Amino acid sequence: MRYLTVDPERPDAEIVRRAGDVLRRGGLVAFPTETVYGLGANALDANAVSRIFAAKGRPTYDPLIVHVLNASAARAVAREWPEAADRLAEAFWPGPLTLVLPKRALVPDIATAGLDTVAVRVPSHPVARAILEAANVPIAAPSANRFTELSPTKAEHVARALGDRVDLIVDGGPTTVGIESTVVDLSGDGAVVLRPGTIPAPALAAAIGALDIAVADARGGGTMPRRAPGMLDRHYAPRARIELFDDASRREAARSAATYTARGETVGALLLAPLGEAVTHPMHMPNDPAAYARALYDALHTLDASGCQVVLVEAPPETAAWAGVRDRLTRAAQPVTPNDTR
Ligand code: AMP
Ligand code: MG
Repeated sequence: MRYLTVDPERPDAEIVRRAGDVLRRGGLVAFPTETVYGLGANALDANAVSRIFAAKGRPTYDPLIVHVLNASAARAVAREWPEAADRLAEAFWPGPLTLVLPKRALVPDIATAGLDTVAVRVPSHPVARAILEAANVPIAAPSANRFTELSPTKAEHVARALGDRVDLIVDGGPTTVGIESTVVDLSGDGAVVLRPGTIPAPALAAAIGALDIAVADARGGGTMPRRAPGMLDRHYAPRARIELFDDASRREAARSAATYTARGETVGALLLAPLGEAVTHPMHMPNDPAAYARALYDALHTLDASGCQVVLVEAPPETAAWAGVRDRLTRAAQPVTPNDTR
C-alpha cells in the first residue's frame, strides 16, 4: 500500500495522475470525499469492483454508489432521468446527495448488487473531483472501512482499517460533512429517502416542488434487498457497545455509567449536556446537526482507541435536521446479531 498526502483544496497533479492510473488499471484507491473517505474502483470494471467487496468484507447484496463528475456523466449510467433528478441535481450537486435511478447495461451487476437501479452521486471534494477527472471513468466507492464498522473521516482511519488491502491511500485531511450521503430513490413513483444524511427531507421536498417526501422505514421494506424484515442493521458501529438515552432517561444513564465504571469498564459518552462523574471519557458534542455530523465518527474512533467498552450516547432531537445523525446512532446501537460478519 502507498500512502500519499495532498493539499485538500489543490491536490498535487502528479499524485492525482497516479491515483487515476491505479484506478484505470483495476486497482483500489482510498480518497477523501466531502462525506467520508471512499474506497474507489473503476465502476465499469466488474473485476475491479469485486475487489472492493473483498477488501471490505462486504456482502455482494449491498450495492455501491457510483461517483461521477457532473449530471451529464450521471445520465450516462442512468437509463431514465426524471424531472425530479434534474431538480435535485440542480439544487444539491456537487454535494452529499445520491440518486437511485434505473441503470444502464454498461454498469456491471456487481456494482448494483444485481438490482436494475444504480446509485449515483456527484461529489464536491476537490480531491475526489480531481481523481475522477484523472481516472476518466465513473468510480464506485463505498466508505473505506470494513463492513458494518465505523466509517473513516480521516486517512489514518482508512490505514488502520484497510491497510494493505488497498493499493493507494490519498490523504486529503479530515472530511467536512462527516456522515454518508442522503440517498433518494427516484426509480419508482415519486421520491423516497432511503438513507437520511445531512440534507433534511423538507429541503429535498422544496427542491422537487413537493410539500413532502416519503422516507423509507429504517426497519425494512422499500427497495433495500439487504434488510432483514423487522430489524435494523447494525452498521456504522464502533467496537464499543452503544447505549442511547434521551432526556427522560438521563438519570438512569448516569446510574448505568456508575455501574459500568464500578465493574471495571471504561465508559465513554457522546453528550449534549453533562452526565456526571462516572463517565471516564465524556465527549461534548456540538448542538448543531452539521457540526455534530462532522465530529461523530472521529469521536467514536477516538473512544474506541481509548479502550471504551461502552459509550453512552445522548440522542439528539427527533427533528428532520437531525435525521441523518440519529440514523447512524441508532444503527451503531444495534446489538451484534449472528448474521453479522464481525
Ligand atoms: P456506502 O457506499 O457504504 O455508503 O453504502 C451505499 C449505500 O447506498 C447502500 O448501502 C444503500 O443504502 C445505497 N444504495 C446503493 N445503491 C443502491 C440501489 N441501487 N438501490 C438502493 N439503495 C442503494
Ligand atoms: Mg459504508
